[in-house]
Amino acid sequence: MPTPPATTRQTLSLQQDTANWHLALAAAVRDPDELVDLLGLGDDYREPARRAARLFPLLVPRNYLERIEPGNPRDPLLLQVLPLAAEETVVDGFSADAVGDAQAHRSPGLLQKYTGRALLITTGACAVHCRYCFRREFPYGEEPRTMEDWEPAFADIAADSSLHEIILSGGDPLMLTDARLAMFIERLDRIEHLRRLRIHTRLPIVLPQRVTSTLLEMITSTRLTPIVVVHANHAHELQGDCAAALRELVRGGVTVLNQAVLLRGINDTTASQAELCERLVNLGVIPYYLHQLDRVSGAAHFEVPEQTGRGIIAELRKRLPGYAVPQFVREIAGELHKTPL
Ligand SMILES: *Cc1c(COP(=O)(O)O)cnc(C)c1O
Ligand code: SF4
Repeated sequence: MPTPPATTRQTLSLQQDTANWHLALAAAVRDPDELVDLLGLGDDYREPARRAARLFPLLVPRNYLERIEPGNPRDPLLLQVLPLAAEETVVDGFSADAVGDAQAHRSPGLLQKYTGRALLITTGACAVHCRYCFRREFPYGEEPRTMEDWEPAFADIAADSSLHEIILSGGDPLMLTDARLAMFIERLDRIEHLRRLRIHTRLPIVLPQRVTSTLLEMITSTRLTPIVVVHANHAHELQGDCAAALRELVRGGVTVLNQAVLLRGINDTTASQAELCERLVNLGVIPYYLHQLDRVSGAAHFEVPEQTGRGIIAELRKRLPGYAVPQFVREIAGELHKTPL
């Protein structure tokens, strides 16, 4: 697989132009038949993909498709985005609200589960639809829309000096326009007891055009310490302009962490996790969490036994520096932190 040449920094100075990512998003693939055609998958994939896409629509940017090997139905990137018949299977123990989000609402759009930090559901939109997503069933329609609708959440944060960190989440907060994102950041910057701004996003991975100089400036020019948590599951994702975008964030002074989800047939071997973690740290990104899959309906076929995950982590410890080994965790509804496994 090609690694970016050393000259990347000169040739790929940050995109100035925000029009670019909006265009790339508009051009993303949404039609299962087009996906099957573009990647030369067999006709057998068409009907199941159409049906499963009715449960949770297909969405994948072309930039991400370019990192998928044509004609390979087992490609680890393809399996994250291709709707399959298995999604229609009802499995005991897999439900709509797998992580207890409904109980964690403290204001419209504001979730708090853990001490000192709370999370804003800034949008329901994503640039990619990950088939295993724990929010595939999330009732986004009930969250605030206008900036005015957001005022109760800001007031709630402002009134609680135990909060030091706000996490912009979703969906994907980098789906917001720059203007809207700037409003959130500016509003939070004014709340004195906040110290850190965390952004949970998959866009630098799936739509690296989103990492513009305007964005970097916006998140590094406030009083708040910026932390960006990206979501890559496989080393093949970290190529070309994705790798360059991550480097730009790191060089711009942002602490960049990665969370991955342990996924059957995608990254459930020591070799693939070691390659992912090594490539991340080479880019200056710290592997933060490896999540045991949240048990959301339609995702049962992605589940890996916990024991396998524990074994992989034990092997990684023998091969990699301590900082390159993520914490293997699961989210248990009602617990006060993610639970180490
Ligand atoms: C995972 C999560 C966080 C972040 O937890 P950390 O352990 O700090 O990364 C915060 N709020 C909610 C609701 C979460 O699900
Ligand atoms: S980007 Fe994140 S929130 Fe969006 S579908 Fe993928 S895992 Fe879910």
